Amino acid sequence: TYAWFSQRAWVEIDLGALSYNVKQLVIFLSSRTQLMAVVKADAYGHGSVTVAKTVLEAGASCLGVATVPEGIQLREGGIKAPILILGATHTLEQIHAIAQWKLQPTLCSPKQALEVSNTLEAINYNSPIPVHIKLDTGMSRLGTNWQEAGDFVQLVQGLPHLDIASVYSHLATADSPDPAIMQQQHNRFEQAIAQIKARGIKIPSLHLANSAATLADPKLHYDMVRAGLAIYGLYPATHLENKIKLQPVLQLKARVTHVKTIAAGTGVSYGHQFIAPREMRIAVVGIGYADGVPRSLSNQMQVLLRGQRVHQIGTITMDQIMLDVSSIPDLQEGEIVTLLGEQGQEQISADDWANQLNTISWEILCAFKHRLPRVAV
Ligand code: PLP
Repeated sequence: TYAWFSQRAWVEIDLGALSYNVKQLVIFLSSRTQLMAVVKADAYGHGSVTVAKTVLEAGASCLGVATVPEGIQLREGGIKAPILILGATHTLEQIHAIAQWKLQPTLCSPKQALEVSNTLEAINYNSPIPVHIKLDTGMSRLGTNWQEAGDFVQLVQGLPHLDIASVYSHLATADSPDPAIMQQQHNRFEQAIAQIKARGIKIPSLHLANSAATLADPKLHYDMVRAGLAIYGLYPATHLENKIKLQPVLQLKARVTHVKTIAAGTGVSYGHQFIAPREMRIAVVGIGYADGVPRSLSNQMQVLLRGQRVHQIGTITMDQIMLDVSSIPDLQEGEIVTLLGEQGQEQISADDWANQLNTISWEILCAFKHRLPRVAV
């Protein structure tokens, strides 16, 4: 049928698991600490509007995105909760859109604070907008140096149209088992807060922790934590796995589209990088690198079929992969292959791929393309 064909491959999103992870985090945090769910990059590939609705219902207080269009997409999807743009915003269009869509910008420098304030002045924007001040305590990415926190915050406080909603910073090494650099950043953040307090300025919310820091040390929780990876059910590092129970939210699935027998000595796929060592039963599966399956896993990937692990063979192509299914002689076209996820006792996780590819699970999740429908289950 058409429905069968249209779902040659898809990403399955377990909203129950997503909700479970958020609730686990909320239980883990003290009642004074709020949870921001980081839903940038289409909720790490999981589908931002559906994820946003679920996490807000499960107990997250607000959302974090990287860009203005990501924030607009959430508003157009009916999301009313506060949305912080974690990235920098400069252009007139971006500032207009922030005001129009009631998004909340990050201010990274005095210059940017003036740009936002002047732009709002020029368009006669009447009510102040909530802004979040970013300090660099050692990530060397966005933010004003922590030593200048007092001057920066005082400047923003004096500007019209801006209402300081929070002061925050981001950690560079929270997933490392060695806490030394994280502690240095924590220390600098504390010194910055002291400078701000010394000027008699009260900040409604302070936040520092990503998922790893949230799990690593409650001293880093402050008034809010910004969790991405953990809400999607993955651990930022193996040494943090014992802190809280999480369930992976995403599974990657595709259908067997063709099954056949090939003779010993037959080459498989582009470049004949695999030669059948014996007569083999092989299956073609309708998913490839244009869907986000990394081509560099060619000949090294295993997938789950009927609860067994089977080997992918030959080069991964744009839309299709081949499997050695000699162990399943009665395999039928249309059967479902799990590339990431669980079947029976077997499980393949984004961490397994990340380890094979010498990268991180975040990158694996963000790589799935829009050609794959996100199916909520
Ligand atoms: N805060 C900021 C500023 C980020 O850029 C990110 C993501 O990279 C997060 C929080 C969430 O990080 P994680 O997915 O490790 O929880």
